[in-house]
Amino acid sequence: AVPLVVAINTSMAARSGMLVRDRIAMEQARNLDTVVFDKTGTLTAGEQGIVDVTTVDDWDEDDVLALAAAAEGDSEHMIAQAIREEADVRGLSVPDVSRFEALEGRGVRATVESDVVPAVAPGGSGDESATATSSARDGYTVSVGGPNLLRHLEIDPSPDLERFADEAGARGEGVVYVLAAEHAVGAIALADVIREESFAAIDALHEMGVSVAMLTGDDEDVAHSVADELGIDTVFAEVLPEDKDEKILELQDEGHLVAMVGDGVNDAPALTRSDVGIAIGSGTDVAVESADVVLVENDPRDVASLVRLSAKSYRKMQ
Ligand code: ADP
Ligand code: MG
Repeated sequence: AVPLVVAINTSMAARSGMLVRDRIAMEQARNLDTVVFDKTGTLTAGEQGIVDVTTVDDWDEDDVLALAAAAEGDSEHMIAQAIREEADVRGLSVPDVSRFEALEGRGVRATVESDVVPAVAPGGSGDESATATSSARDGYTVSVGGPNLLRHLEIDPSPDLERFADEAGARGEGVVYVLAAEHAVGAIALADVIREESFAAIDALHEMGVSVAMLTGDDEDVAHSVADELGIDTVFAEVLPEDKDEKILELQDEGHLVAMVGDGVNDAPALTRSDVGIAIGSGTDVAVESADVVLVENDPRDVASLVRLSAKSYRKMQ
């Protein structure tokens, strides 16, 4: 039978917008000293809006966007949705792609059949047109991804693209590059908005003496700009999905009792690893299934309520 106090605690939790999946974790919550938040979709709305597009050489902005939308065709990432939507709004015809590949935590890659977009064959116009035509006939690879994808592929953006990215980063916007045949031909700046509730969520945890960290696959610039605005103590940026749980383990090894709050597939191992795994209710199924507690109202302020509720319930038990 379920002890009475635990039953009360669970129904109180339900009333406060939480679904408790693991009672032992719920009991531990009162002793938490560190809460790690995923950034995108947890502290921010996750809905990316396209702010600016730039291209190199003779590349046309719409052609670069159409290629990007083609490569993003199969991706469920918010960035992919934003790019497809922009192509749609601009009425662009998006070429067919084959061999779509998701590069987890970095971007996407696909092969574009060149006869669909002869005007945008890599190499552009001019002296290189002969090579461009022959490579175009076989189709070419189009990739879209963040700075970490460029580093991974060891591709350097042009100074112009780099300046565009620096300026966007300074404004707290993320940048993804569009690569055609392994050349960075354009970049897209995207802005995400911090959720209003995140400010109060972090203040409340600080008032309890809990330190707050951010864990994200996103770029250092963007991560620090969001963290500074929110008053977050520690930032782990440019962390690949497979390394997110390592960061939790490091904190635990330092003696911290750690909660992780996340929404994405890439947060699942970190949610499992943490002492208290907390999923945003509207997050992916994998995240919800890996969590000890689910925030049904999708409200990050409920993390502080959870700590408070845990303290209140389990004090009574002793
Ligand atoms: P987070 O950890 O903030 O939830 P992700 O791990 O999903 O972010 O992605 C990390 C970074 O990888 C993104 O900021 C972006 O630069 C790049 N990226 C991931 N998926 C895509 C995609 N489908 N298209 C373009 N860029 C992507
Ligand atoms: Mg996320």
